[in-house]
Amino acid sequence: MFAVRMKNEILKKYHEGRLAHAFLLETNDMERCYKDILDIVKEINCPHTFAPKCKEECNICNLIDNNNLPSLITINPDGQFIKRDQVNTLMNKFSTIPVFTKYNVYIVNEAHRLNNESANALLKFLEEPEDNILGFYITNNKENVISTIRSRCQLFYNRYDDNEVTINNEILMDVKLYLNSIYKNREDLLYNKTHMSGFYKERTEWETFFTTMLYYIKDCYVGRRTDKIKLVEEMSDENVVKFILLVEKAIKYIKNNGNIDLFLDRFVIEMREYYE
Ligand SMILES: [Zn+2]
Repeated sequence: MFAVRMKNEILKKYHEGRLAHAFLLETNDMERCYKDILDIVKEINCPHTFAPKCKEECNICNLIDNNNLPSLITINPDGQFIKRDQVNTLMNKFSTIPVFTKYNVYIVNEAHRLNNESANALLKFLEEPEDNILGFYITNNKENVISTIRSRCQLFYNRYDDNEVTINNEILMDVKLYLNSIYKNREDLLYNKTHMSGFYKERTEWETFFTTMLYYIKDCYVGRRTDKIKLVEEMSDENVVKFILLVEKAIKYIKNNGNIDLFLDRFVIEMREYYE
């Protein structure tokens, strides 16, 4: 469901030494998918412990960001199609083992634009995979990718959530404080009354509060956050899903001018069922 899974899964396989040689990534956002692949390439090749802002000190990450790393080649369609010449150039460059990095990596953007000729040329990489070559094929529809390519790649479906937002940290602190305060607290209803009633003046602020909660919980669930509060850590997967649905209901209710105090009470009462 979330893009972060592709990244984590590929990196996990890498750390276990079980990485495939070629991946076909179907996605609703090819540009973002490309960026995510660059992150994977960085993490695999970075000589330091990779951090997202590694580039200040790290030559390899810097070269990747500037598209100057010799062992990384991106192929984009030349007009309607990806042409055989482009593939030949790639194969010539990758006929030697990489010097500065572990892998020679090629990324094919819009892999559905490979024609028969260029796809046939690429098959050599796919049929006799060399340990030091990795291929990523990106497409928005895997059914349109020539089947000889498709069948030789490990498939991922990589959907990006259009509603992804940046979390405001101050509001996130309010969210965590609230959830920590009601968690397994017999006086949760009283807490609503004394602390939460009128906590925000504007309806839109409540909406932001619950939207922040929603993204925080989702991020925790897919392993994107290390700052998990106890409530989230102890909740079963099944209950997390119910919890997410409840928060989505809250956002809808607030948008429809529902009474916020009433909803907060409904919220804590329903939450009690998810704790055990
Ligand atoms: Zn680095």
